[in-house]
Amino acid sequence: MGMRYWAWFLAKLVVAAVGLRAMLKLVARIFPPNKDPLAPLNDGIRFLLCDLALMLCFLIFAGALYLIVRDQRYRCRVCLRRLRMPIATGSWSRILQFGRPRIEYICTYGHGTLSEDDLHISGLSSAQWTPHSEDIWAELCASGKEANRP
Ligand SMILES: [Zn+2]
Repeated sequence: MGMRYWAWFLAKLVVAAVGLRAMLKLVARIFPPNKDPLAPLNDGIRFLLCDLALMLCFLIFAGALYLIVRDQRYRCRVCLRRLRMPIATGSWSRILQFGRPRIEYICTYGHGTLSEDDLHISGLSSAQWTPHSEDIWAELCASGKEANRP
């Protein structure tokens, strides 16, 4: 897989981290540490609100991470364009004939195919990327190269 693919992933993570940091800073500004020792009555509700605000920040952050991973999954490993044209293959009732139900996405520039199990239960179904080769000889040699990959 290309460097650009992982650079894009990293860039999104950095943006999310910066966003989280900004949110936490905002919370710290809204709820500054109370230096007045004579205001203990207000502290209870302040702590509660501050906790809620922090929880919200982390929820937003978790949502962002989810979207980042999801976006990454449906991008071409070579050119980073969004994969298109989902095609359902296989069939539960005819597994022996057509194989397991899978959904295939392709890069419209012909870089490869993403094949994904048609199981949306866990959200952790395995997806397999198959690069398309320019010529038949590279395709034939691919099995040899595969073994050398780290
Ligand atoms: Zn592509």
